[in-house]
Amino acid sequence: MSLPKRYLITSALPYANGLKHVGHLAGAYIPADIYVRYLRAQKRDVVFVCGSDEHGTAIPIQATKEGTTPRAIIDKYHEAMKQDFDDLSMSFDIYHRTSEPIHHETAQEFFTYLYDRGELETKETEQYFDEEAKTFLADRYIKGTCPNCGSDRAFGDQCENCGRTLSPDELINPVSTLSGKAPVKKKTSHWYLPLGKHEEFLREWILKEHKDDWRATVVGQCKSWIEGGLQSRAVTRDLDWGIKVPLKDAEGKVLYVWFDAPIGYVSATKQWAIDNDKDWEPYWYDKDTKLVHFIGKDNIVFHCIIFPIMLKLHGNILPTNVPANEFLNLEGDKMSTSRNWKLDMRDYINDFVKKENGGTQCVDMLRYYLTQIAPETKDSEFMWKGFQDAVNSELVSIFGNFINRTWVLMHKLCGGKVPKLHEELLDDDDKEIINSIKQSVVTVERLLEEYKFREALFEVIDLSRKGNQYMQKKEPWIVAKKLAENPEAQKSIDNTMHLCLQLSANLAILINPFLPNTARKMLSMMKVVERMLEWENAGTLNLLRPGYAMRAPELLFRKIEDDEIKFQVEKLKSGLIKSDAGSQLPVTGNQQPETSNLKPEIQFDDFAKIDLKVGTILTAEKVEKADKLLKLSIDLGFETRTIVSGIALHFKPEEIVGKQVVVVANLAPRKMRGIESNGMILMAEDKEGKLHFVKPESVINAGAGVS
Ligand SMILES: [Zn+2]
Repeated sequence: MSLPKRYLITSALPYANGLKHVGHLAGAYIPADIYVRYLRAQKRDVVFVCGSDEHGTAIPIQATKEGTTPRAIIDKYHEAMKQDFDDLSMSFDIYHRTSEPIHHETAQEFFTYLYDRGELETKETEQYFDEEAKTFLADRYIKGTCPNCGSDRAFGDQCENCGRTLSPDELINPVSTLSGKAPVKKKTSHWYLPLGKHEEFLREWILKEHKDDWRATVVGQCKSWIEGGLQSRAVTRDLDWGIKVPLKDAEGKVLYVWFDAPIGYVSATKQWAIDNDKDWEPYWYDKDTKLVHFIGKDNIVFHCIIFPIMLKLHGNILPTNVPANEFLNLEGDKMSTSRNWKLDMRDYINDFVKKENGGTQCVDMLRYYLTQIAPETKDSEFMWKGFQDAVNSELVSIFGNFINRTWVLMHKLCGGKVPKLHEELLDDDDKEIINSIKQSVVTVERLLEEYKFREALFEVIDLSRKGNQYMQKKEPWIVAKKLAENPEAQKSIDNTMHLCLQLSANLAILINPFLPNTARKMLSMMKVVERMLEWENAGTLNLLRPGYAMRAPELLFRKIEDDEIKFQVEKLKSGLIKSDAGSQLPVTGNQQPETSNLKPEIQFDDFAKIDLKVGTILTAEKVEKADKLLKLSIDLGFETRTIVSGIALHFKPEEIVGKQVVVVANLAPRKMRGIESNGMILMAEDKEGKLHFVKPESVINAGAGVS
């Protein structure tokens, strides 16, 4: 097998309009990270790029929802997603963003290159226009009834209910989401990429060249797209958020997000090259580069049909493979952000990873389960019970158990050092386990090269299972009991423990792409450096030198308790939004249906920043020349605070002394009428506009926390 000179690995750019859930993680991120870590261990030239996709209509829509600007939205979610990936040990070489100038330039250059060579068509069409908002309505700004399933949760690009891709013209009873009015048709002109012109190329490239080495699900979806007839696709649109079309007379037009987003891989590579003093061009132009896109199945058309056409026209290399995953469901239902039926990466990080004592075993437990159930060939299911079983009966009971037993026995029977191997005494069981190690390395390597991560991981666990069986058969602890009568038996113990230790070292190399934190913990137990994890060491039996002292065993994984699982399932069920109430109301009135006046959603972290304490009012007096203000001194248990509160019209000072209140205790101080106020009191307002204190049901100690 001749190897490519270099690898460029991409993970789908997550859209910066919200946090991402574990379904995303299982689809496009963990598999890519496994593959990249394996390639790095092979010492191959590899660059792993990803970044936030920050254009498109959903960004300004989210901004309206959160009462802020599009810029604030992308900044917030870019940072949040980057942090989440980091917390889950994703090892991107760069996590870029499409709002960067280098990306704008790169995308504009792509457009100009295609335009100058006559590869784009110009078409004047009639598009929906909102006369009240005086703007063309990009797809997400139009809502209506789905022609496919009849749901009224259909937008101009896709039906939220059945997932079908739509065009605004297909919607029944279209309505503008800006004004709530029916839009009118108005002429506008745009540039299109004529996909149909490239049908022959696609047939040749996908349906012939890659029909066997790409996943059947991917080839199948491409085939149905090609045979369904490839329509020209608009490259530009009328919108003010995005990358400006680099032509005269293109005022108010930006590149369509589907066009600019995949170019984000190119601009990320450029930025990586600048940061690392490398040349980016071979990664996108040299035929000896292997380009692999890791995505979820909803992205197949963009990465297998549209982007390759763009790359071909632009003179770039084409992807060697696009191992798209199917979807991951959760506890028997489709994951959905609008119904809040999901497990965000952030939630897992908060509930598990952050509660650990500085360790990262919970990161590896999630990576393990998501790989074990990876939806490589069909949709699969995240079940909390399944997570618990995978951790407790595989990671803990098989892999962790083997390592732990090996270390405990090595300390007990071999003085904490790697014992010598007496080759002349190797028996059939010894030879079999040696053979298993060598076989597993070959198998895992082949499976990883074929993107079969689930099977590869199974093989690693299976090798540790064989280790347990081997040890069970050899029973060195029984042999040790007969040492007094037969001192020679120590040699048999040495052989068993020597092989178990070499097997452990091999397991560290093999598990490293999947569970990098576990591999490092094992290195620390072995007191060896990271270089041992290089793949060329796998399958060898001299990784640990006889006589070398090992550290004490550390448990690699903890068990997942029933309570934790119960808590998660209940949390999921209680958070479910049964029917998307907002969008099921008839959208005939203006603006959003008034379901509530809730402020935009916040994360638990945001809430946790607020320090609420129970306080007791010690004194209260009117503030001079301010008829609404009372100056209060409040006992917070640990100190007495002065708080100025706008409640003088509702309470007489003498009435409230001795009452308990809830205080926002970490609010920045603020001067009111010359008095520094240190905190705020929580009040509830009734229908008549009268204020009431929010307070504990019965009197409790001042300073008690409220959460
Ligand atoms: Zn539908």
